[in-house]
Parts: sequence; structure tokens; C-alpha cells
Amino acid sequence: MHFATRAVHSGQHPEETTGAVMPPIFMTSTYAQEAPGVIKGYDYTRAGNPNFGDLERLLAGMEGGEHATVFSSGLGAVTALMSTLKAGDRVVCCHGIYGGSYRLFTKVFQRFGLNFSFVHPHEVEEALKTPCQLLFFETPTNPLLEIADIAALCSSARAAGVRSVVDNTFATPYFQNPLALGADVVLHSTTKYLGGHSDVIGGALITNDAELKKELDFARMAIGLNPSPFDTWLTLRGAKTLAVRMERHAKNASAVADFLQRHPMVKRVYYPGLTTHKAHEIARKQMRGYSGIVSVEFNLDLQEAKELVSSFKVFTLAESLGGIESLVCHPASMTHASIPKEERERYGLGDGLMRFSVGIEDHRDLVEDIEVALEMYAKV
Ligand SMILES: *Cc1c(COP(=O)(O)O)cnc(C)c1O
Repeated sequence: MHFATRAVHSGQHPEETTGAVMPPIFMTSTYAQEAPGVIKGYDYTRAGNPNFGDLERLLAGMEGGEHATVFSSGLGAVTALMSTLKAGDRVVCCHGIYGGSYRLFTKVFQRFGLNFSFVHPHEVEEALKTPCQLLFFETPTNPLLEIADIAALCSSARAAGVRSVVDNTFATPYFQNPLALGADVVLHSTTKYLGGHSDVIGGALITNDAELKKELDFARMAIGLNPSPFDTWLTLRGAKTLAVRMERHAKNASAVADFLQRHPMVKRVYYPGLTTHKAHEIARKQMRGYSGIVSVEFNLDLQEAKELVSSFKVFTLAESLGGIESLVCHPASMTHASIPKEERERYGLGDGLMRFSVGIEDHRDLVEDIEVALEMYAKV
């Protein structure tokens, strides 16, 4: 079946006792047992809940995978994954991964004896020559929308006997399916496009490896990484419309990127759909569309950039991304403020950089919003 159909129906069935088309929310912590240990599949919600299963089957169907496990957050999913390793193990990570993943690796798991090597995608093959257990990367990255070649990196990992994990949050399963390109595990922060409405935090891992699925379910139960049944129900509700939302996100993002590219105050636009993007050819090969995030470097100093980012009418100044409403953020003073200026600039995160999470509003209003806000600087 095609994606939009799978996104609505994968693993979904009317509820058995009433025929309810939408699943009820099983807000229960525990389940009655007929005799000690005689249960109907569930004993305690930290270990499992029907609402988790509903979302897991849908997400697995969307990514073309056999198994999914859902978590309380994207970082909960990363925690579960890291808990499958042991002290002394080594993880190769590509630069540009989500800041929270970087913090979790360097500030938490490093203290537990895991080793992390941060490299550029072209250095992965070399890095895999030193014994390691996991390759972890993200494409497109945040906020510079850099593209890594999934098939190439995962094939290097496979050749080295290393498990590969791709954070597919930015592309979504609508536009990119890492498992089909050779990845062993796909990671999602379902907080973003999958939930899609900025009203719930969640995470998921999808894999074809049945043994790993058991380990991840164990980690969720043993560490306490379970989501709320209500949260997974909400995420399921959002995820079913992924196909229609992503079409609009991508169309609007492309309109915003085109407009920005022609604006005299713009130094540089980052959007993988632009033919001027340095890895557009790889993006075109592995993605079916370019998703809804556009980053742009304006010819503005720090103060001007902070003013501009606060002056939009339709784009709300906020962290996060992937909801139906348009958001804008200023990495230099928000998500990446803790990195010293020189270092930030070395990564390409200048004071004039802004990241737009382009929503599903009418693209004409979005372009106009940016155009009007920029006029403030045209006079000086
Ligand atoms: C938000 C995000 C995460 C972390 O997910 P949470 O749900 O916030 O824990 C991981 N990776 C990427 C790419 C993200 O955007």
C-alpha cells in the first residue's frame, strides 16, 4: 500500500467490544489478573499499554519496519538505545546531531563509561576502523540542514559490523525511510512532525531486529521511559495526517526558501530542496521531498537579528519545530547560546542565522510576514 494509506491504517482496527473506530484511551496504571500471572497481555503500564501498541504499529508501518517502541520523549528513545551498550563501548556520531542528544552523550553517558567520537560524515569510514558498537547520525541536521548519505554511511557501518541509527525527525517517514537505505534503527522525536500539533512530547525507535525490539521494550520498562497512554493516543491522532501535512509544509517551505534566496538582505539560504544546496544531489537521491525547515543567514548583527526574530506576526518566536503553526528561532541567542561565539561561527551558526519551521498556513501570508518585517531594515 502507498504511504498515505499506511499512515492512516497500519495496524489499526476497530476496538473489539464496541466497534469504536478510534481506540479508547487506556488511562490505567495496572490490570486485573485472573490468577497470579494470568493476564490479558498487560500487567502494568510502565511495561505496556494498548495505546503504546496502536502507535507502534502505525509508526512501524510508516517507516516500513517490523517493530517500533514508543517512549516518553525523543531523548527517552536515545536513552533506551544507549542502555543497550556497556561501559567501554564506543559510539561514532556525526557532527550536527540534535543538541540534546549531544548533551546526553557528553554530560551523562560519558560518565557511565561510554565513549563518543564526533566526526564529519566523510570521516565515518575511517572512524569505524577503531572498534565500536554504534554509528549515530542525523540527516537533515539542525539548523544548517546538512545532508549525510544514508546508504553510504550505513553500508560502511554494516561492513564494519556496527549497528547504524538514523535520527529521521526532520525528514519524517513521509519523505525518507532510512531502513530501506540500510539503517538498522530509525529514531524519531514524535514531538515534532509525527505528533505535528505542538501539544505532546514523545519519541520512538523503529527496527527490523526482533532481538533489539525486546531490548528496547525492556529498557523502557526497566528505566521508566514509558510515555502516557493519553500522549500516545494524541500522537496517533496527529500522525495519521502526516502525509497531507508534509505536502503543505514542504510546499510552503519551498516558497519561503525561494523568496529568501532572492532577498537582498540574505547572505545564504539553507534548504535541501534548493539546487544551490551543497548536497542537493544526495538529498534528491534519498528524499522524496525536502520537509518544512528553512534556515537563513541575514546580513544582520546580533542586536538586529534579535529584533527581527521578535517582530514577525505569523511566525511565533519559539523553540521546537514540526507543528502546523509556523515558528522561528534564533540559534545564536536561543538553542546554541551556550556555545562561545567563535566556535559557533566555525560551525556556521552566525549571529544573523534564523531557523524557520514553516507551518501549514497560506504561504502568501508567511512570505509577506517575512517581507514586511525585513522592510524595517531596508530604510537604514
Ligand atoms: C527534538 C529532537 C530530539 C529530541 O526529542 P524530544 O522529544 O525533545 O526529547 C531529537 N532529535 C531531533 C532531530 C529533534 O529535533
